[in-house]
Amino acid sequence: MMNFDFTEEQELLRKTVRSFVDKEIMPYIKEWDENQHFETSILTRLAHLGLMGVCIPEQYGGSGMDYNSLAIVCEELERGDTAFRTAVSVHTGLNSMTLLQWGNEEQKQKYLVPQSKGQKVGAFGLTEPNAGSDVAAMQTKAIDAGDHYVLNGSKTWISLCDVADHFIVFAYTDKSKKHHGISAFIVERTWEGFSSKAIKGKLGIRAGNTGEIFFDNVKVPKENLLGEEGDGFKIAMSALDNGRFTVAAGACGTIMASLESSVKYCHERSTFGKEIGRHQLVQQMIAKMEAGLVQSRLLVYHAGCLKNQGKRNTRETSLAKWQACDYAYEAANDAVQIHGAYGFSNDYPVERYLRNAKAPVIYEGTREIHTVMQGEYVLGYRVDKPLSKMLPAWPFESVTEEAVN
Ligand SMILES: Cc1cc2nc3c(=O)[nH]c(=O)nc-3n(C[C@H](O)[C@H](O)[C@H](O)COP(=O)(O)OP(=O)(O)OC[C@H]3O[C@@H](n4cnc5c(N)ncnc54)[C@H](O)[C@@H]3O)c2cc1C
Repeated sequence: MMNFDFTEEQELLRKTVRSFVDKEIMPYIKEWDENQHFETSILTRLAHLGLMGVCIPEQYGGSGMDYNSLAIVCEELERGDTAFRTAVSVHTGLNSMTLLQWGNEEQKQKYLVPQSKGQKVGAFGLTEPNAGSDVAAMQTKAIDAGDHYVLNGSKTWISLCDVADHFIVFAYTDKSKKHHGISAFIVERTWEGFSSKAIKGKLGIRAGNTGEIFFDNVKVPKENLLGEEGDGFKIAMSALDNGRFTVAAGACGTIMASLESSVKYCHERSTFGKEIGRHQLVQQMIAKMEAGLVQSRLLVYHAGCLKNQGKRNTRETSLAKWQACDYAYEAANDAVQIHGAYGFSNDYPVERYLRNAKAPVIYEGTREIHTVMQGEYVLGYRVDKPLSKMLPAWPFESVTEEAVN
């Protein structure tokens, strides 16, 4: 049965996040963006609202809402700025949901519970200087040393690199097995040999924290192996099914923000004796934004429905991420165009939307990777096999370790 209605709880959630963004982010974001400052107190305040684990079961410290509620949070947060949606994407989408899906009970109690409550922050370390789209080109290694592994290597372009307490890190335990030799580990910032360094001078998401993390003989206890040895590639890809979902939802927020600014400006600015909104070519740009928003939302919430039903959604999530991010980039670009020369200055927020909208077209699978994936699905070259562990279906009543196995 198809149902396009949001529940009362979801409507209330949207209102709450919108009002939070209007009060706590909008008035300050220009300054944070200019100063390349990540305002960590936003995460604490999101935690107080129960938004750092919105779709994590209550038994693991979360708010127990459905997966589309996470999409609502991301959509509304990105209307304020991409930096804070990115933070929720990596904390909840890439880290906490991965612990929920792949972690054992001890790992969930130790790491997922405090993350869901927002007492600890999670991040995700997959990309390396020479391994982005080509994950298997990674060089980070974890050597078995009895009761622990010794981790050496580095990751780059890691969101929340200086902020997160826990990282899910991917490393080779057996390089000869290629993809099947990659394993996933939970790594704590405080361990000896761990360090991080922010990247400055980014094109966009300047109010976000992104950078490098380094492992110099970091001792990782055996109990911090996530899944089995060799499961790392599968875990990374299934984590991306959730991260990409949040990125796609956030892209809808960029389109909303682009539309809001543009519609306002269309009514304020006049040329040739009429509001610019009366010119058909300007209407065309507004109409494209609206079409992009509605289509992206349908794709995102469809993927969320599949998650709620406990069904594999790699294909649908990839399509949503690809399309929504492309639409968002076009919407931000057109928003600058509608503002004319003023759009080219930071007197208006649209230049920030455009700079911010570029990163989501690159991260969590570039536009090209998603295009190729979709082509391969249609042609029958790519077929998803069932995973040994699925994200639990919503409602969560029966979430036990056995249920996700
Ligand atoms: C702001 C930001 C935050 C990020 N946060 C994180 C994070 O938290 N954790 C993390 O692990 N990573 C993170 N990343 C890294 C991101 O996921 C990678 O940048 C992305 O996967 C692309 O990898 P790459 O930059 O190495 O590009 P490459 O893989 O080197 O690609 C370069 C170009 O070649 C194209 N290309 C590559 N392979 C193919 C192919 N097979 N077919 C067609 N075209 C191809 C690409 O589309 C791209 O245009 C972040 C990146 C940014 C910008």
